[in-house]
Amino acid sequence: MLGLMQDWPLTVDKILDHAKTWHGHREVVTRTVEGPIVRSTYAEIHDRAKRVSNALKGWGVKLGDRVATLAWNTHRHLECWYGIMGIGAVCHTLNPRLHPDQLAWIINHAGDKVIFVDLTFVPMLEGIMSQCKGVERVIVLTDDWNMPQTRLPRADCYERVVREQSGECAWGGFDENTACGLCYTSGTTGNPKGVLYSHRSNFLHMLIGLQADVLATSVRDTILPVVPMFHANAWGVTFGAPAVGAKLVLPGPKLDGASIYELLESEKVTYSAAVPTVWQMLLAHLQAGRLKLSTLKRVTIGGSACPESIIRTFWNDYGVDVVHAWGMTETSPLGTTGTLTPEVAALPFEQQLPTRLKQGRAPVGVELKLCDDAGNRLPHDGKTQGRLMIRGLAIAKAYFRGDGGNILDSEGFFDTGDVATIDPNGIMQITDRAKDVIKSGGEWISSIDVENIAMGHPKVELAAVIGIHHPKWDERPLLIIKTRPGETLTKDEMLDFLKGKIAKWWTPDDVVFVDDIPLGATGKIDKKVLREQFKDYRWPAPEPAET
Ligand code: AMP
Repeated sequence: MLGLMQDWPLTVDKILDHAKTWHGHREVVTRTVEGPIVRSTYAEIHDRAKRVSNALKGWGVKLGDRVATLAWNTHRHLECWYGIMGIGAVCHTLNPRLHPDQLAWIINHAGDKVIFVDLTFVPMLEGIMSQCKGVERVIVLTDDWNMPQTRLPRADCYERVVREQSGECAWGGFDENTACGLCYTSGTTGNPKGVLYSHRSNFLHMLIGLQADVLATSVRDTILPVVPMFHANAWGVTFGAPAVGAKLVLPGPKLDGASIYELLESEKVTYSAAVPTVWQMLLAHLQAGRLKLSTLKRVTIGGSACPESIIRTFWNDYGVDVVHAWGMTETSPLGTTGTLTPEVAALPFEQQLPTRLKQGRAPVGVELKLCDDAGNRLPHDGKTQGRLMIRGLAIAKAYFRGDGGNILDSEGFFDTGDVATIDPNGIMQITDRAKDVIKSGGEWISSIDVENIAMGHPKVELAAVIGIHHPKWDERPLLIIKTRPGETLTKDEMLDFLKGKIAKWWTPDDVVFVDDIPLGATGKIDKKVLREQFKDYRWPAPEPAET
């Protein structure tokens, strides 16, 4: 027997319809690529998104066609998202931090027909356009005044397109399983792979994000997503904010500490989300200028492991509550969040820290398990490390065009490529990427743990640990440090700092200092590049320290 409830397909156009109807006056504030701050509302975003839809239809874009964006977080980008998705076309967010050749490959693989591009990236796109024969037209996200001379094919100015279209356009009316968004994984091994989100998965993922134990954003929040709209749905924030009518502050191209601080204060931001490196820059700016945060209450930090120093400084010096989160492109991305259980919340802050450092629990709709390499389940005892496997309502079941073949195990779980522990309370901790794990004497050393502690040294800006071949132990950890500007640090000082904080046998056998540590296209330390840089490294003494 079927239930007798209404059929209401979960399509994301309904989110912006809702925002227009019930929160139409709420502001969307953007620091534009051209410079000035532009103020808009959900009603205006809705109207202009419909104009984008009409333009796309006029150009022959149909259900399932891919339309790409190469853009920062701005009101125009938001309009494109909803304008593309509303008519059942697929919004393909391109990551501008990728190498141009890789971008060209992705554009061709996706089969993008139209590209909306920010002024910043016009030269890059011009450089690769001859390789992208399928792209029929390019719209530059600017006004007539700033429209550049360009050799992009059938280039047009966004504001002119929007001006000339009508704001009347029917959205939705298709199956909720229709493809909605496309985002390629960083491709650290092999070619990048496309994750194809559906309307249904994005809608349900938005609801997951709004839970009090996940992102917990509400109409009372002013939200600044630093997390880019070009990577993993901006963690769902640009769906969740209009859904609840929260004021949205979009930072455009300026993501340095000073620019973010200015927006946090001038727009009275209460909630923000970003990767750790962004917060490092913000905290350095606050400390250098002895500045205060007057409205910010909560931040979600994820994308890579959040160092303890960030969580502690935010809380002790600025009264900001950090929630650590884990996820990936394939998981839409929210996988786990570290909001506290009542038992942990009752403890003094210092005693909460070990739990706050973990990546947290799975919300309803996400299932986790740990497995060994043969696929056998491992215990959730908080000690046993295993491959982290995930299944749920917004988790990829295959890659675009079938790349990579079957990616699920016999129980329908996707292998995240991360190594983790899960404790009896369901709290998960990432210990490494499977391919970054350091195997020393048959045991695993967590590079993330050592990095986290090293990052707590006041003179350290970035720390990375990689495994280097060792004749006796197979591999031993090498600690690579980039110090803060103007600071000097010695190997002995660093090793002294680690003493007592990690198991003795985890202690790196050497510390090297570098001018820079390579970051990948999504702001994570690029260990592949680091391993390449240090491939000829040799341990200093004939026999490294006793372990
Ligand atoms: P991406 O698909 O590019 O977003 O990368 C996903 C990967 O980032 C995950 O598989 C993890 O290896 C890493 N990651 C994300 N969040 C965290 C976190 N909080 N702690 C440690 N690693 C993380």
